[in-house]
Amino acid sequence: MAQKKLFLNSLIRPIIVVRLLGEKNRILEQKNSLERKLRLGCGNADICWEEKSETLKNLSALLKEIHWAFIKIIFGRYGLCEKCETPLFWNTLMKKPLTKFCPYC
Ligand SMILES: [Zn+2]
Repeated sequence: MAQKKLFLNSLIRPIIVVRLLGEKNRILEQKNSLERKLRLGCGNADICWEEKSETLKNLSALLKEIHWAFIKIIFGRYGLCEKCETPLFWNTLMKKPLTKFCPYC
């Protein structure tokens, strides 16, 4: 069972890495375009500015999570619940590669 998990882990890891890189690029593009818009200003609506800077914060947080996922991959901690260290379901990770906790935590 443990061996099967390990085998699955090594098979799925490259797919996860590609997905994380894709996600990272997508977020970076979104972040850059938003930063450009913020620099140019968007009329005199403060709400607009606030909304955009809030989105920027969220995007930056997502980027941090992606970096954290890469660090976990490097140290062989990816795919383990950050609280109880139970291996996460691979179908969950394939759908949501940034999942940190198992369904029980
Ligand atoms: Zn857990």
